[in-house]
Amino acid sequence: MAKKAQISADHSYDILVIGSGPAGESAAIAAAKAGKRVGVVENRPLVGGSCTHMGTIPSKSLRHAVKQIIRFKSSNLFREIGDSRRLTFPRVLESANQVIPKQIKLHTTFFVRNRVSLHIGQASFIDRNTVSVDLLEGARETISAQHIIIATGSRPYHPADVDFSHPRVYDSDSILSMQHTPRHLIIYGAGVIGCEYASIFSGLGVRVDLINNRNSLLSFLDDEISDALSYHLRDSGVTVRHSEEYEAIEPQDHNVTLHLKSGKRLKADAILWCNGRSGNTDGLNLAAVGLEADHRGNLKVDSDYRTSVDNIYAVGDVIGWPSLASASFGQGRAALSTLLGTDNFPIDDVPTGIYTLPEISSVGKTETELTAAKVPYEVGRALFKNTARGQISGEDVGMLKLLFHVDTLEILGVHCFGAEAAEIVHIGQAIMNQKNGGNTIRYFLSTTFNYPTMAEAYRIAALDGYNRINRR
Ligand SMILES: Cc1cc2nc3c(=O)[nH]c(=O)nc-3n(C[C@H](O)[C@H](O)[C@H](O)COP(=O)(O)OP(=O)(O)OC[C@H]3O[C@@H](n4cnc5c(N)ncnc54)[C@H](O)[C@@H]3O)c2cc1C
Repeated sequence: MAKKAQISADHSYDILVIGSGPAGESAAIAAAKAGKRVGVVENRPLVGGSCTHMGTIPSKSLRHAVKQIIRFKSSNLFREIGDSRRLTFPRVLESANQVIPKQIKLHTTFFVRNRVSLHIGQASFIDRNTVSVDLLEGARETISAQHIIIATGSRPYHPADVDFSHPRVYDSDSILSMQHTPRHLIIYGAGVIGCEYASIFSGLGVRVDLINNRNSLLSFLDDEISDALSYHLRDSGVTVRHSEEYEAIEPQDHNVTLHLKSGKRLKADAILWCNGRSGNTDGLNLAAVGLEADHRGNLKVDSDYRTSVDNIYAVGDVIGWPSLASASFGQGRAALSTLLGTDNFPIDDVPTGIYTLPEISSVGKTETELTAAKVPYEVGRALFKNTARGQISGEDVGMLKLLFHVDTLEILGVHCFGAEAAEIVHIGQAIMNQKNGGNTIRYFLSTTFNYPTMAEAYRIAALDGYNRINRR
């Protein structure tokens, strides 16, 4: 069957990757570096995936711009230079979007330099070795390959009873083309994306109602960090409503009403739906290869990212959790390692990086998990307001928290919120990954840190924790 398809194909590769986001790109480049003939099919006119066009890059860039505005507004020094009141959401977006073409250029260079052939069109399976591509320019071509890697990503989940075509109803893609600044925005869904957008809009002075289906924010986080996020969101004007579910969303000409099952009715200028994502599998004609996606469009893979069809792999958002660009890069390379039979490395040590204001990042176990597992641990904390760097920079909201084993001093968890938390956490992660006794808070007690730095928080937290067990 494979042989027949290859004979009739317009192009033939060792490895064909569908999707050019982080997962597809990393798989394709790794394959090319290994000397394989590689093709990539992408249904957007430009490479980078939803990561570059709709997700990570635009949202982080937007958040960076808003953070600068907040700094500007809160600094007496800068306030004297200009007035930031004229900054509308579209204007901030326009400035933030300047990074997208730079990212596209960079990623295009990776494909070109590694001689990966790009086919711009929609891919769908003909059989396990053959894919049909409806090219965006109109023609159709057939591509055969020995191995196929599905890296088609995900898109916002759209329940049938919400009218996303209405101009007052947005999702995390369409919000990037919002042409006005709402005075009041409802964000439905308080996962990572919902919380990040709550920070962005409240930072611009928009009144935000953040609707959470659960009874605490981002319940997978350490309790103290989740509490800190709730406090700071509220402090910046976000009304967080826990344990609520929508009954109906009623958009009108001049506003939108959210009817909640609890009987509450909230009215705002617009609503941003941030409640879940669906894997991009519906256009792939999976039936042709005997694969089936779950109810959210996600594919099942084994620990080597192989689907139930042994020459077809799936990586990135299309396999569900953790649905992060960070993990997708690793998964693409990991799938290639399996496929080529080279050194494999599991992607299981995924840190959490949440770009709310304040930023949050963590790796390892939470206090709740350690308590449930009956692990004797101690806590060491450093408050950013007590670091010289925090005081100098004015970034004094935040905390680094180390959880470590009381007997072995092994670091079990690193939890951080505040400026650059997503960077800071990696110092702890590097020590946690040391083998043969190298994972110990002693490292931070015996190492000289540049002064003043935020990294110094590790020494402060380690001393705090160490002193605590020595006082016993
Ligand atoms: C608002 C937002 C903020 C985020 N912030 C972060 C963050 O801060 N950090 C982080 O790590 N992650 C973040 N993410 C998640 C991150 O964007 C995704 O995890 C990442 O993009 C997944 O990469 P991927 O390669 O699997 O898929 P994608 O980046 O989605 O790329 C898949 C590509 O395949 C194309 N495609 C789909 N079907 C076909 C087909 N049949 N034929 C051809 N091409 C096809 C798609 O159009 C797309 O271009 C965020 C996501 C969102 C929505």
